Parts: sequence; C-alpha cells; structure tokens
Amino acid sequence: MRIKRGKQYKKTVMFYKTNFNFQEPYEIILDGNFIQYCAKLHWNVKEMLMKLVGGIVHIKLSPCVYRELKDLHKSDKLIAGTINIAKSFRQDECKHEEILTPTECILKMIGKKNRHHYFVATQDVSLRETLRKIPSVPLIYFKHGLMTLDPPSEVSLIKCQRKEKIKLKPESSEKANLKLMLKNARIEKREEERQEKESLYQDKDFKKMKIELGVKRKAKGPNPLSCKKKQKIEDEEAPSAIKKIRRKRKPKDSSTQLTNNPSEGNEESIIQE
Ligand SMILES: [Zn+2]
Repeated sequence: MRIKRGKQYKKTVMFYKTNFNFQEPYEIILDGNFIQYCAKLHWNVKEMLMKLVGGIVHIKLSPCVYRELKDLHKSDKLIAGTINIAKSFRQDECKHEEILTPTECILKMIGKKNRHHYFVATQDVSLRETLRKIPSVPLIYFKHGLMTLDPPSEVSLIKCQRKEKIKLKPESSEKANLKLMLKNARIEKREEERQEKESLYQDKDFKKMKIELGVKRKAKGPNPLSCKKKQKIEDEEAPSAIKKIRRKRKPKDSSTQLTNNPSEGNEESIIQE
C-alpha cells in the first residue's frame, strides 16, 4: 500500500510539474487545523511533507493563520505544542490591507490561477472544496490519520486537456493515447450491447416462452376453425348434409371432403350401405 501510494503521489507531483510548472523547493501553505493535527500526532511536519511530495519544501504560514492560532492559544483552546510548531515557520506579510479570516487570506494568496504554485495543507473540508475549483492547486490533508496528497482535481485535468489541445501536434503520444482510450471505450460499449442481446436470446425462460407461443399459434390455425365450420354444418344442416353428400358422390371426388370429418364419413358409410 505504501509503495502504491508513493507512486501515486509521485505521479501527482509530476502532473503539476509538467503541466503547471511547479518546481522545487515546493511552497506549502498551512492552515491552523492542519498544524493542530500535526501537533496531535507529534509529527515532524516538514519532514513528513518532504517525504510526501518527494522534494524540498518551504513552509509558509500566513500572518492571518498565525493570529488565529495565537488567539486560540491565549484562550487555551489549542492542542498542546501547536503554537510552538506554528512559530517555527516562516511568515510572509499579507498582501491585503483589510482584516481577513485565515480561509479568506489563503484564498487571496492562491488567487484565480495559483500563479505562485503553492501547495495548500488544510483540514478544512469547505476550503478544500473551494480550492478544487481553482485549477492547479495541490491539496494536502490528513485522511484516516495519514497525510495524503489529493489527486489532481477535475478542473485541473480539464485545464490541462485544453492546454494539450492547443499545443499538441498530431503525432503527440498523449493525443494518440487519448484517442486510443476513446476508441477502446466505444468498442467496449458495442461489445457490451452485443452480449446483452445474445444473453437475451440464450435465456432459457425466453426460449420457453418462444416455444410456447409458437405452439399456441400452430394450434390456433387449423383445428378450432375447421372444427367450428364443420360443427356448424353438422348442427345446423344435418338433414341437408345428407343431400349434399348424395350430390357429390356422383363426380367421385367426395373422398377429399369427407376424410376431414369422421362423423360425415360415418354418414357416407351409412348411405353407401
Ligand atoms: Zn492574511
């Protein structure tokens, strides 16, 4: 699991390096909750972050985040050790003049395009959701007690695809890959549809149903209709039937009509006698 995750993180960092020009040392902004989590686990934050991204990191703490931590520390609402960890990080001046919350300050630092290529380490779910809507913001957070690097967000991937479309030449391997993936997806879909049809016809119940229908149709055809007609003749015209038979006996092809109805055949035999 460890190796798999390591590979995945390496891929993610490579994605930002190749598509959005991220470079070492990687700049990482931390929020107050993330620092508290580190204090709780007694982790060396910088060391863990370097392992996670596979390179040198510079940790940044915004004065707004520090101010919030300091206030909480004063009112004794912080996990022990948090403020000491926070003090160990570099603090740059905020570029805004108005007073902002830590979240607003971080969003201001990132801007619309994250031009300074910051990673953001935060335990704030809603802040993460907001940052996922901005292209090229790598996110770090604790998930089930493990420090995690979020895979590139959909917005980042779409942005990257658009870039590729503009710059890629027809022979580019990535474009070919994309085409191949699309082609394979279509082939798979067709195959699925074909298999679905086949399975329908192979379905035993469906076969049974088909056979039963066929039998009913065959049974419907000659028997009931022919019986009805002949029954009518028998029931309604029983006396005149004898006359008809007598007339038809003369041209000698009465046998074809009589064989269908045994009762008439009997009458003929009676007549013949
Ligand atoms: Zn600020």
